Formats: sequence, structure tokens, C-alpha cells
Amino acid sequence: MTAPDAAVRTLDLHFQGVPGVIAASVFETGDGLAVVDVGPGSTLPELESGLASLGASLADVRHVFLTHIHLDHAGATGTILDRVPGARAYVHERGAAHLSRPGRLLASAAQIYGGEMDRLWGEMRPVEPGRLTVLAGGETLRVGRLEVRPLYTPGHAVHHLAYHAGDDLFVGDVGGIRLSERQTPRAPTPPPDIDLPAWRESVAALRGLGARTLHLAHFGASPDSADHWDGLLASLDVDAARVREGLERGQDAEELTGAFTRALLDELRGQDPELPGRYEFACPPWMSVQGLVRYWTRAAARGRATGDGG
Ligand SMILES: [Zn+2]
Repeated sequence: MTAPDAAVRTLDLHFQGVPGVIAASVFETGDGLAVVDVGPGSTLPELESGLASLGASLADVRHVFLTHIHLDHAGATGTILDRVPGARAYVHERGAAHLSRPGRLLASAAQIYGGEMDRLWGEMRPVEPGRLTVLAGGETLRVGRLEVRPLYTPGHAVHHLAYHAGDDLFVGDVGGIRLSERQTPRAPTPPPDIDLPAWRESVAALRGLGARTLHLAHFGASPDSADHWDGLLASLDVDAARVREGLERGQDAEELTGAFTRALLDELRGQDPELPGRYEFACPPWMSVQGLVRYWTRAAARGRATGDGG
């Protein structure tokens, strides 16, 4: 970067050619650039042109902070580290093995996306274990002249971290999807790790930090406000209850998905007419249904369904 400054920039990765769906956050550390959530392999050229617009390039990246290892956040990591020998990546201890040996992650994604894998996500190259800083959450990292604090924040994924640096809080997906100011934040709830009580605890921890700006992977910077977190918790409860009630009524997967999708897209349309089209790229509603069905089914099996969610 020609003029190092502490400001965090949002780069639009134009996922599938659609603006405002997947963001990477970039900031100068005094020891090269840091990128939070580099996005999938398919959008690496967009990441590169975003860096170029800041007067930088991939070669300036030294620190890749991953909130979690889902393909839309971490897919390009291995390729970037292969191309930039001085860079390293930071990841939660429960996600590290999947970055180094992405076979299982890719196989389970292929079950969902089939022949669309390559078009959607591009290549996911393995990361050498020696290039990873493996975190539990709660550490204080010295990165250049900055202090970065990873925070263990499960709920969306069992290996999810948020990163706190000064006024900025990088919340990955646990901070919800908010594609425009007018949208109420919404929880992406894909399988397999959704955990509603853990999600609520993560929100309680994050909102107490007193950051000024949240950086969402979907999408970009948003003020850290009570409205944001209250909206997210409320919509998480609504979505979870919709699926639970559908299951209790004996709806099959198709009925559940149809009803959930109609209700969600209607609400989004009411908030901002252009939201439904983009939202489906950030987290398809059918995937949120699958994750919540799995959560409620397992909760019932463990005999602790009462009191969760509704
Ligand atoms: Zn995501």
C-alpha cells in the first residue's frame, strides 16, 4: 500500500458477478497487509483487482485471518499462500486440519453443489500446516503495530472466530448477513454445525466489546449497534421457530423449504426490494432450512428441544 493507514477497506469480491454479496476486509498492519476472509478461489481475480485499486497486490498480503473455513470465506487461502511465500493464515484449531487436508470439506460440499462446485467456488488448495497460526480464541496477537484478538464465537460453525482490533470487529458469519442498511441482520444457518444457544452466547460476548464498526463477510462495514445485534437475535429466533413449527406439523423438506423461503424473501422484499436476488447468493434459504432441520432433529434426539429457540 502506498499510503499505509489504519482504515479498514471492504473489497467486493463480486461473487458470481453479483456485487455486494461476499466481502473481504483489508487493513495495513505495519507488517504488510492483513485480509480477513479472502473468499473462494473463484473470486481470487476480484480480490486481486480490489487490492490493485488500493495500490497494492497479493504480494503485499502477510496475514490472512479466517473467521471460519467455509468455502465462501477461506477457499482461496491455499492458493494465496502458494503465491505469497511470506504470508501466513490464522484459523481456529477445529478448522485447521480441514485447511491442510480439504478433501473431506470438498467432498461434503460436492454433495450439496454437485457439478456446480467449480463454477461456484473454484479451486481450494491445501495449506501447509507450518503456514498456519492455529488459535483457540482469547489470545492477543501482535501483528505489526496492531493488537488483534481472536474470539471463539461458535453458533454458525463450531470453529468460528471473530477478530477484534481497536474499533473494528470482524464478525464473519456469526454477526449475520446484512446486505443493505435497511435489512434486518439475518443468521445464515447452513449445516452441519448450527448451535442456537452457542450463537446467542457468541453475540452476547461480541456486543459487549464496545467496538465501533462491524465487518461482515456478507456484506461490509456496519455500525456496531444494539439494533444490529437485537435484529439478528430476533430474526434467528423467527427462522428457528419457523422450522421447528414446520417439523412439529409434520411438513416434509419440500414444504418446509417452500414456506420458509417465501416468508424470508417476502420479509427481505419489504425491507428493500432489491434484497431477495442478492440474498440467495449470500446464503440460499434452502440451506438455512437444512441447517435448522439438522439442529432441531439433533436437539430433539438429545431430549433438550424445550426452551431452545422459539
Ligand atoms: Zn459465509
